[in-house]
Amino acid sequence: MMVERAMTPEAALGTPEGPDHLVLSEVGMTFGTLDVIPSLSLSVRRGEMVAFLGPSGCGKTTTLRMIAGLLDPTRGRISVGGREITHLPVHDRDMGMVFQSYALFPHMTVSQNVAFGLEMRRMAKAEIRSRVERALAMVQLGHLAGRKPKALSGGQQQRVALARALVVEPSILLLDEPLSNLDAKLRDEMRVQIRSLQQQSGITAVFVTHDQVEALSMCDRIVVMRGGHVEQFGTPNEIYERPATPFVASFVGRTN
Ligand code: ADP
Repeated sequence: MMVERAMTPEAALGTPEGPDHLVLSEVGMTFGTLDVIPSLSLSVRRGEMVAFLGPSGCGKTTTLRMIAGLLDPTRGRISVGGREITHLPVHDRDMGMVFQSYALFPHMTVSQNVAFGLEMRRMAKAEIRSRVERALAMVQLGHLAGRKPKALSGGQQQRVALARALVVEPSILLLDEPLSNLDAKLRDEMRVQIRSLQQQSGITAVFVTHDQVEALSMCDRIVVMRGGHVEQFGTPNEIYERPATPFVASFVGRTN
């Protein structure tokens, strides 16, 4: 069966049964006259990795940006660990974000890029040094700490972006199509690496993708979106074995 073949060993371990961590209640977004997200409600449990999966334009990135604080929702409430964060500025949200484009600072070395968020928090120099070392070791890039981003491969740059997001020990990790700029082989490696880092750290993660294999193989649960609505929210097996709508069935590649 396709889901089992696509699953990493880590993904097969099962769904964390933790308490709700990130909660969206009737969240909506309107751009001018365009109602992109009419009303979205869902809960992500502590320690789980949830994918927002759907075709281009269905509202995945808009939802992630509202969670990150990069977009202000038109309606509804967002809370983390019971604390409402709906309209808090980005830097008060305790979230790490990894973008499709990596968004590294080109003039800084790898270790300066990773240290940036810690320096913004005015952390002591010795603590910054040891945290950066640990974060780079975690993504196996300690030997490239003095390089500039342009001297790294795409996969290495993405690992720096991941280290930079995790080094501040955020409560939630947000990943926006983090693998789509990588070639097929690197993408497979990074799938396993991101999933194992997420599981080792126990961090709650939200992962935006249009790639069903990525969602099915990496995440504990999947939100299938279409036109700003949730079509189905379930485990990879539920989505694959019991698609709630013909759209879900065709989107995950199962048509019977
Ligand atoms: P996805 O990430 O699923 O590809 P997006 O969340 O980027 O989808 O976009 C959802 C819809 O919202 C699309 O129709 C897009 O054109 C529209 N949209 C996104 N951002 C804006 C914006 N800043 N202004 C107007 N429309 C936008």
